[in-house]
Amino acid sequence: MVTEFEIIDVTPRDGLQNEPVIFSIKQKLQLISRSIETGISRIEVASFVNPKKVPQMANPEELLDELLIKKRASYSGLVLNERGFSRALDSECDEITFVIVASDEFSLRNQGMTTAQSIKYISELLANKEKGIKVCISIAAAFGCPFEGEVKPSRVVEIAEKCLDLCPDEISLADTIGVAVPKDIKEKVEPLISLYSDTPVRLHLHNTRNTAISNAWTAFELGVKRFDASFGGIGGCPFAPNATGNVAIEDLIYLFERSGFNTGVDLDASIKVAEWLREQVKHPLPSALLAAGDFKI
Ligand code: ZN
Repeated sequence: MVTEFEIIDVTPRDGLQNEPVIFSIKQKLQLISRSIETGISRIEVASFVNPKKVPQMANPEELLDELLIKKRASYSGLVLNERGFSRALDSECDEITFVIVASDEFSLRNQGMTTAQSIKYISELLANKEKGIKVCISIAAAFGCPFEGEVKPSRVVEIAEKCLDLCPDEISLADTIGVAVPKDIKEKVEPLISLYSDTPVRLHLHNTRNTAISNAWTAFELGVKRFDASFGGIGGCPFAPNATGNVAIEDLIYLFERSGFNTGVDLDASIKVAEWLREQVKHPLPSALLAAGDFKI
């Protein structure tokens, strides 16, 4: 029995941010509530970005105000800059994820600064961090960049080494455009686990090329127990052309539960959330389990 296996539901943030149908606060609250009912206890609910750039992420403060009336899970928010950081702190979310993009070109387009500048910038922000709030550093485009192409393992190690000074509570590698295969996972996750021997490693996988589930399994065999995922495999990135959804929560649960590991998340309930989500967005969702027939595990 595996302990500490965690699926971090990124549906309300990564899952929805590229959706043309804008969710109301009420719909987001319903989504988050349904997620918690499946057994999920960590949810990325917001992104503290300019709503003009990502309209789906407008009013994270209002959402968190509602969520914190009766706290039922650990809520995280994505932060790209100082303004976002202070908004996240004011909104009292439990966790903050800072994004450091592995390639300079993507970093310049996404955050307006190079990777090295971004690390320095975040270290200055974290110097004033309040106690209590957990910080995850996510290295985005760690497996490939839509503009520069390959990202070498040595580049990821170099960035991860610099991030050690930021003392994150968790370090994450993100396959933002879904290009990784298991070989890449081995080459990039293994050194990260050695480097961060006392810090949990988390993985953020997109399924653009249908490799996310095999990548998750490879990472799991290396010792990773924290995976970002979304219901129905919904998702995309407004700043990464052609990026498609995250690995689906229900597909991950099926893989691990049928292999004999306890994910702590209910498969049938997760499929029902994905079905509900499909109705809300009014288009098909890519998860395998949504299309598959009944088969009890
Ligand atoms: Zn993503």
